[in-house]
Amino acid sequence: MDNVLVAGGAGYIGSHACKAVSNAGFTPVCFDNLSTGWEDAVKFGPFEQGDLLDRARIDEVIAKHKPIAIMHFAALSQVGESMDDPGLYWRTNVLGSLNLIEAAVDAHINKFIFSSTCATYGDQDNVVLDEDSVQQPINAYGASKRAVENILYDFERRFGLRHVIFRYFNVAGADPEGEVGEFHQPETHLIPLMLDAIDGKRDALTIYGTDYETPDGTCVRDYVHVCDLVDAHLLGMQWLTDGRPSAVFNLGTGSGFSVRDVVDHSKSVTNKEVPIIEGARRAGDCTQLVSGSSKAEAELGWKPTRSNLKSMIGDAWRWHQTGHYSK
Ligand code: UDP
Repeated sequence: MDNVLVAGGAGYIGSHACKAVSNAGFTPVCFDNLSTGWEDAVKFGPFEQGDLLDRARIDEVIAKHKPIAIMHFAALSQVGESMDDPGLYWRTNVLGSLNLIEAAVDAHINKFIFSSTCATYGDQDNVVLDEDSVQQPINAYGASKRAVENILYDFERRFGLRHVIFRYFNVAGADPEGEVGEFHQPETHLIPLMLDAIDGKRDALTIYGTDYETPDGTCVRDYVHVCDLVDAHLLGMQWLTDGRPSAVFNLGTGSGFSVRDVVDHSKSVTNKEVPIIEGARRAGDCTQLVSGSSKAEAELGWKPTRSNLKSMIGDAWRWHQTGHYSK
């Protein structure tokens, strides 16, 4: 069975990707430093603990497992934290990625799938975001991901490194079979924090800003189910295997939901109220991030089937009640 190196495979999205890679008939080799990931989440293939800032360790793992492709999820991804500590984001996300990209080139691996973000677009109110939209990140997280995209363009030009870049919108939900799910410590994301507030693990959900220029004053996001999202990565790998050119795809459904929409919808899923505090805006948050592109559907054949609030909140709620990691 061919191996696929999954950097960040012990994290939220990476662990779901490992399951999808395994279901597709490959062996996912999880490379993770466990800074935000969980060893308990490594269930579908071998685990190689290591840090992307340690180039020798990357080379060692690649030499041992000889992967045919690399999926790169290993990054820090919190907008607020990136504003507090931009150096951490530039070092971890950019230098770490550069090491992995250089290791891929040196090992003649030319299928590289990179997790980027809609945060590279920045705050463009009421603009339909497609892959050609101008990229003006307003936080260090988005800027660090944009920098890695630029590294990939340069390495394609110089070394022929073929790649697919996915710009994620807001990833949510969990494996419907409950094998893996979202578990961050500390948690900063809307849906898991809302579920914590619903079942009393925290006093309330703070809504970060109710004075945005949106219909109900709260930020609008395009939520994608994590299983739909990782399906696109398998299609991206096939795209490169078929000899198609490097490409960038938005992964969003084009439906925008406000923070209040998400909160309101949760009642029909959980039958419980969400205790709420209306708080101040969070630094770095864009007003609205919604994909205006169906390129992934049209060109990759991506068919998101679970990216509706009912499935995303329902799968997250099931995981929230039963699943967790301890180490
Ligand atoms: N949000 C919120 N309260 C929270 C966490 C998030 O109001 O406790 C809002 C946040 O301002 C954003 C949306 O929920 O508009 C999604 O935030 P999240 O951190 O989940 O993802 P991001 O959009 O930052 O990638």
